[in-house]
Amino acid sequence: MYPALQKDLENLEEILQEVRDFSVDYLSNLDHFPTGRTLGSIAFPGLPAVGAGAAQTHQLFKETFLKNIVASSGSRYWGYVTGGTTPAAIAGDWLTSIFDQNTFNTSGLGDVSAILELETIKMMLELFELPATFNGGFVSGATMSNFTCLAVARQWFGKTQSIDIAKEGNPSTIKMYAAVPHSSSVKALSMLGLGSKNLTIVPTSPGRECIDIKKFKEILARQPNNPFILIASAGTVNTVDFDDMEAIAQLRKEYNFWWHIDAAFGAFASCSTDYKYLLHGWELADSITVDCHKWLNVPYDSAVFFTKKEHENLQKETFQNANAPYLGDTIKYFSYLNFVPESSRRFRALPVWFTLQAYGKAGYCSIVENNITLAKELAGKIENSAYYQLAAPVRLNTVCFTVKDKNKRDDYIKAIITKLNENGKIFLTPTLYNEKSCIRAALVNWRTGKADIEIAMKELTEVYELIDK
Ligand SMILES: *Cc1c(COP(=O)(O)O)cnc(C)c1O
Repeated sequence: MYPALQKDLENLEEILQEVRDFSVDYLSNLDHFPTGRTLGSIAFPGLPAVGAGAAQTHQLFKETFLKNIVASSGSRYWGYVTGGTTPAAIAGDWLTSIFDQNTFNTSGLGDVSAILELETIKMMLELFELPATFNGGFVSGATMSNFTCLAVARQWFGKTQSIDIAKEGNPSTIKMYAAVPHSSSVKALSMLGLGSKNLTIVPTSPGRECIDIKKFKEILARQPNNPFILIASAGTVNTVDFDDMEAIAQLRKEYNFWWHIDAAFGAFASCSTDYKYLLHGWELADSITVDCHKWLNVPYDSAVFFTKKEHENLQKETFQNANAPYLGDTIKYFSYLNFVPESSRRFRALPVWFTLQAYGKAGYCSIVENNITLAKELAGKIENSAYYQLAAPVRLNTVCFTVKDKNKRDDYIKAIITKLNENGKIFLTPTLYNEKSCIRAALVNWRTGKADIEIAMKELTEVYELIDK
């Protein structure tokens, strides 16, 4: 064995103890760690001829990079939609690396990881109050979940034209509709060879980001017999708008379409008594995307797809590893190898299993309700502020706001975001909504509390005054 490896094996306890101590220290002080950095020049070390071993490498990493790490799992990192990491999820994630299982085999021969993945999917369906009519599995993020679901949708569409797309390739055009799709769904269409330009954008209801059902019906009435794919949104990123799930479910009575829902974070509305109505009817969809590294608060990278069990064969046709003779009959037996884009994969279900067992339904409902309450509180403060106003109503957990003074908007928002990042107390991202420059705050972190809202408002006020001088 190479000497540095031999030494590390002998010193495993000290190495892991040091990393543990450092981790506890980091997570305990996360509140004081900056949410933004201005990266200076970094002296990146190249490949050493002779390695230094794990302990020294840990030291080197801290010296070189710790000053460039941001508290993205902390309570005031509200840019994009960024989840934190619950203690149980971190424990599960560590063990994922320790066990290093290659998760695909559910036959009972071999390790339990794929079986535990199926069990974790069942728990997630229960969390979202979805029926057991869905299969599911883990992928790296909502982008890959949208990709997986839309790949099966593509295979379904092919069948309506008597084409096996997995074998024969894409037909010339597939009709696809969406109102305000997340950019990742559009990217998935590019990756699938369906062509992002072939997506027809449906008009939205006035002042909203959801499908105008009446107008959509008019569009469909022109080609009543053509099958299509619908990409619905359960939570748009700017204003967290939801397509009308019940109305879409009604459309299924008249039209033949694959119904995909991107519920990357909106799925968690099902954990709130006041907001679960937004998802009524979603159980009738063919496929659903949910991120785990957002509102479930597990470490990157983790998301699930749910696809209807009735489409199991379509999914196997899409992802089968048909040419490996040692893998057996890929359609008859269930294996993740023939069900998802990847072959070898990490035991991603474990952190999710840990956090769901540790906090249960009540724990997740409390995280969700808390974030919604705090978003409303922040919105109230913004409405009462001298400098800011809401750009959209707060529908769930995201506050989209802008500078009151129209003439100052574009320049100020840029300057405000830059200054906030320099200060490092709160992280927000800019956006464009209704052709207006806006700022977004998306609250999905389990740690966020009332004090964070106070700190954020104080920062926003002070930064504005500084710029306005
Ligand atoms: C975040 C998000 C995505 C993309 O998710 P990744 O996990 O970054 O791949 C897709 N759709 C919606 C609605 C999202 O919020």
